[in-house]
Amino acid sequence: MAPQASSKSRQNENLTARWQVLLESAVRLDWECRTGEALEVGEAAYEAALEAGDVAGALHASHRLALIHFNKESLAEGLKICIRAETWLRYCQDQAAIISLQSIHGGLLVALGDLETGFALLTDCQKRTKSCTDPLANWRARTAYAVALFDTKDFDRAAEAAAESLDYAETSGLAKGSVLIARSIAGRMAARALGEHRLARREIDNTLLARTEDQLRSILTEAQAENLPYEIAECHCYLGLLAWTRSEDAAAAAHYIAAIAASRVAEDEVLLAETSYWYAYLLAGQRAFGEAVSLLAAIEAMEGVLATPGMKLRHFDMRFRIAEMASDWRAAFDYHKAYHEMVVEDYRRLASARAYTMKLALDLETMRRKEDSARLERERLLEENLRLASEQREAVLASRTDPLTGLGNRRELQRRCRDWAESGVTHAALLLFDIDHFKRINDMFSHATGDMVLRQIAGLLAGIGPEGSLAIRMGGEEFLILLPGTTAGDAFADAERLRLRVQDHEWSAVTPKLEVTCSIGLADWSLTDRLEAALHVADANLYAAKNAGRNRCVATAA
Ligand code: GH3
Ligand code: MG
Ligand code: MG
Repeated sequence: MAPQASSKSRQNENLTARWQVLLESAVRLDWECRTGEALEVGEAAYEAALEAGDVAGALHASHRLALIHFNKESLAEGLKICIRAETWLRYCQDQAAIISLQSIHGGLLVALGDLETGFALLTDCQKRTKSCTDPLANWRARTAYAVALFDTKDFDRAAEAAAESLDYAETSGLAKGSVLIARSIAGRMAARALGEHRLARREIDNTLLARTEDQLRSILTEAQAENLPYEIAECHCYLGLLAWTRSEDAAAAAHYIAAIAASRVAEDEVLLAETSYWYAYLLAGQRAFGEAVSLLAAIEAMEGVLATPGMKLRHFDMRFRIAEMASDWRAAFDYHKAYHEMVVEDYRRLASARAYTMKLALDLETMRRKEDSARLERERLLEENLRLASEQREAVLASRTDPLTGLGNRRELQRRCRDWAESGVTHAALLLFDIDHFKRINDMFSHATGDMVLRQIAGLLAGIGPEGSLAIRMGGEEFLILLPGTTAGDAFADAERLRLRVQDHEWSAVTPKLEVTCSIGLADWSLTDRLEAALHVADANLYAAKNAGRNRCVATAA
């Protein structure tokens, strides 16, 4: 390797290492609830990944940034991050990175009210998990779906989906931290679903209740051991809700008070508000209306909490419910009126959610245009490089493929032989396959019919031999099948099966009266010998098969 190239690749390694270190540290900061710093470092990771030309890295960093915004309810900011990252999506080969980004993007759209596009993205993610081997990404797709159901207030199905996601987390060998999150999400959703059942005076599933309580208690113990204030607050809040569902008011109040204190430590206003609502509802149930109302007033005094439509709706709903319980009809009427107006407003918002996404995309464009030209130029160059790289990839693929049949060609053969040699394959069986009297087919029917026959033959070759076998088109109507780790003697049965498959194929569907047969010559190839020599033997056997009347296989020429 030339010294210049080596220093360049070392530099690339350093850059890759840099974004990974930055991203890990952003994740840690996020865990420690240091949101501002986490966002800053996450942004630096995004930049570093782009500098290294690592598109998957840029998507992973964007996923984290968007996730932080999602958790903080700064949905528009999160959406901007996703839209920005979409630029790189088409250059990305990494399913895990795509799934991670798309799942948070879908979640954000659902939370913003664009249910159709959001759920479409989430469903696409679920499909992608089938071909993705990264359990973390696959778990993210499942979790995002559960959270989206929760956001659309489909609490029962959300609890079910979260339980499935937890099951996946526990059985797919995920890191301890992720299992903890999965458990806490499943616990929270089950608790909320149960709480809704009690609010609506529906039947309570006591087994689910007991299991959820156990789950939350065990998370609480872990969270306390590791001093994670957000998790502590969340567990207390939902343990409180479960206690309330059981009508154990004193225990519920104790949990709520602990949750409020821990949310303050975690500086999480959303969770603080959520806990306060449930606590206020409990207090109102005990006719402590003054205390309940002052809890809600404290939330109103906090800047930002009521900034998102979802939270505002929830707040006025709670205000109305409590006023109603206090038989304060005047206030109840006013709150309900305000609530109703907000619902109408919210419907309007939901209806225009897609327009909103488009507006954000435009804003982002304008922002990009305004940004310093150096950065813009760098992004442009990077995109150009990625485009070229992807074109090159396609060209390489095309140069290895036969355009008529889609099978590999001789170049692909060389590449695969190298792979086999490297992976320790020592020998292979060769099947040299030739269509009988193909010229007649062209002459009697048409060249187009001949082409069709070639394409269908390519399909019939698939699945012959053990896994890892390769079929290529040698040229004209001649094909070669290589069966690694097999001898010509053992492959003879495969060759016969193939010959009969060709003979018995429904050729009259291509054109009436068409019949096709083939001849096959077999040979052994030891990978330390030249392939040409083995091919020569296969060719001699093929010749023998033709001479003996065609439509037959020959392994050893007489
Ligand atoms: P044999 O049984 O001895 O193999 O007889 P054959 O007619 O199959 O063999 P021959 O080598 O005489 O003819 C092969 C024919 O394959 C000649 C050529 O026109 C035709 N051919 C080669 N490539 C293509 C192709 O891509 N499409 C079509 N339709 N025909 C092709
Ligand atoms: Mg032929
Ligand atoms: Mg031929």
